Amino acid sequence: MRQDHKLLSLVTRCVECAGNTMTPGADALVCGACGYRYEFSDDGVLRALPRTSELRVPAFYQSRFYRRWMSAWEDMVQKGWVIYERPFYRFFSMSGHRKMRSLIAGLPHPPEVIVDIGCGDGQLFDLLDQRRCIGIDRNAAFLTRVKHRYPDVLAVQADFNNLPFAPGSIACCTSAHVLEHLYHLAEGLEEVRRVLAPAGAFIFSIPTEGGWGWELGRLLVTGPRLRRNYRLNVHEVMAIEHINDARRVLQFARFYFDIRMKKYAPLSFLPVMAINSSITVLASPLAGDHELRPE
Ligand SMILES: [Zn+2]
Repeated sequence: MRQDHKLLSLVTRCVECAGNTMTPGADALVCGACGYRYEFSDDGVLRALPRTSELRVPAFYQSRFYRRWMSAWEDMVQKGWVIYERPFYRFFSMSGHRKMRSLIAGLPHPPEVIVDIGCGDGQLFDLLDQRRCIGIDRNAAFLTRVKHRYPDVLAVQADFNNLPFAPGSIACCTSAHVLEHLYHLAEGLEEVRRVLAPAGAFIFSIPTEGGWGWELGRLLVTGPRLRRNYRLNVHEVMAIEHINDARRVLQFARFYFDIRMKKYAPLSFLPVMAINSSITVLASPLAGDHELRPE
């Protein structure tokens, strides 16, 4: 197998039967209980999606409108994503990522492995030691790009709410600008808490969605671009795409995590949502006897 054994040895949970039963075979991981296999693609991406996802999402994700938005988005990514390519916008777009890096560096024990959930094409890996990183995403095309750019990263195609890791096995999970997109936000947060070690850290960044900073950005940058190039209304798009505003993400996160630090960026000396573009959080999992847990 091509991948570093230390990273791969954490992939022990079967996403099909939920047993902690995956063992390395000659060219794949195989479930000892149900026989399900995780295979590597030609690009070195490990495929750990179940046959079917048990969580239903609204039909609007299949609508013509949403498909138009998705192809517009893919087109923008192909042409060089303006928010990451242009230095001025990149300064804002990456402000949360930079805060994440400094929160990771400040952990009392440097984590041996970092699992970045919803890694996309890997913007965060630029800032980290890639030999310690596992990247999780649903999008196979993104993961292929991750493997080309960061061959040391273990790239795993999996669902946010069905991760191939045993309970309490991960020291550090990260998530950069992902939670605002999750229709199944609570399920996703529960899953992160499940895989985190009791003393583990969840470090995530979200846009200050709901504040007028983003509103202004959309009015001046994204809005006109989407209207001109794709005849899409940015507010209609974002009502679905950023289904959770910052307040909701933080509220739900408090159900499962102790929020130990909250940093605004890029103007961290002015901790106000309106004039910042991201909020970055250091959270530790709440103990198992938390009152939201079923008896
Ligand atoms: Zn299985």
